Amino acid sequence: MGIVVQKYGGSSVADATSIKRVAQRIVATKKAGHDVVVVVSAMGDTTDELIDLANQVSPLPPGRELDMLLTAGERISMAVLAMAIGNLGQEARSFTGSQAGVITDSEHGRAKIIDVTPGRIEAALAEGAVAIVAGFQGVSQTTKDITTLGRGGSDTTAVALAAALGADVCEIYTDVDGIFTADPRIVPNARQIPRISYEEMLEMAANGAKILHLRCVEYARRNDMPIHVRSSFSDKTGTWVVKTEDVVQAGSAQEGSPMEQAIISGVAHDRSESKITVVGVPDKVGFAAAILQALADAQINIDMVVQNVSAAATALTDISFTLPRADGQTAMTALARLKDEVGYERLQYDDSVGKVSIVGAGMRSSPGITAKFFRALADAGVNIEMISTSEIRISVVVTESQVDAAVNAAHAAFDLGTDEVEAVVYGGTGR
Ligand code: ASP
Ligand code: MG
Repeated sequence: MGIVVQKYGGSSVADATSIKRVAQRIVATKKAGHDVVVVVSAMGDTTDELIDLANQVSPLPPGRELDMLLTAGERISMAVLAMAIGNLGQEARSFTGSQAGVITDSEHGRAKIIDVTPGRIEAALAEGAVAIVAGFQGVSQTTKDITTLGRGGSDTTAVALAAALGADVCEIYTDVDGIFTADPRIVPNARQIPRISYEEMLEMAANGAKILHLRCVEYARRNDMPIHVRSSFSDKTGTWVVKTEDVVQAGSAQEGSPMEQAIISGVAHDRSESKITVVGVPDKVGFAAAILQALADAQINIDMVVQNVSAAATALTDISFTLPRADGQTAMTALARLKDEVGYERLQYDDSVGKVSIVGAGMRSSPGITAKFFRALADAGVNIEMISTSEIRISVVVTESQVDAAVNAAHAAFDLGTDEVEAVVYGGTGR
């Protein structure tokens, strides 16, 4: 049988008891005849605690040192887990990201994987050991310094290793039973999704569904590596993230007839953005470009952009866009510098907004989805501030206090719920 990569998140290895439970599961997989490679996150809230510690000694810790500090979290869990597995009579060897051959660029705190050379992992497997790899870290090809991949990056480590090793599957263990049609904390009758395509999962992840790291899904799609998201607290089958053909095929096998893809797969929401409006911009060629260039130069990733039609009398227009809340201050400073050059009237900053998105590959071929979504929002008394769409997604920006109402309204309108409440959140502090 082939190689299985299993990734355990922080809540699955939060304490000694959890680590022992995870060790049992790993040994059972090994006994079933698989070669097992495990990727671990730091225990519980360790990463947050290390960041707090760094901030207590320095308001702006240098990236190199912060990465060195944060990677210690995963080193602890990998070594302790290897010991727990050894204690069950199965040999296990832990490896840092660098030892496992995770080669990255040198962008501290958000390094990208450029190559994976897992020679030592393959050697450990060949000798019958389970290999445990520290997630979310690598080593820079150029500077040889230790890097991290960004928060939540262990998912990406797992998929990258699975692809490099030619694994059969990358299992991502977490504290819920899989991916749900909406966040079960907001929508109690959210349904677990059995299978979802990479492209839909990318839209869900990019629009606030926190369960999988966006880059891990991109990586999986590029390498066609199936991901199985499931709970480490139960034996239930979770959600498979696979290519579109496999979603449709599995559906028709179940129903015994060719299946249409669900029109809407899920509702995602995101409270991490804010909105800036540049009020009273002269409606002339190049002004929008100047504004967006200033943001690009400040390394800010903007999401939605809306430019209003200029009022005929004044020839002035408003430009609004959304951006990560964390970048709000930087963006306002960058735009303030443009005031004389562009000659706009003023800037408005609003950080109490939220984004609600419906995602589904089936909307490509079904008319009326936008109308139904907007009707549901209207009936729930939700006011839409901005709209953006892709081929398989419709997103709206609403005031933050209406996010829950909007998610529930959309979920009900597209009949995504189930009669029995099935979502169980097993662990985690939600930090
Ligand atoms: N421990 C890191 C974090 O909390 C990486 C991860 O969990 O994937 O962001
Ligand atoms: Mg984590």
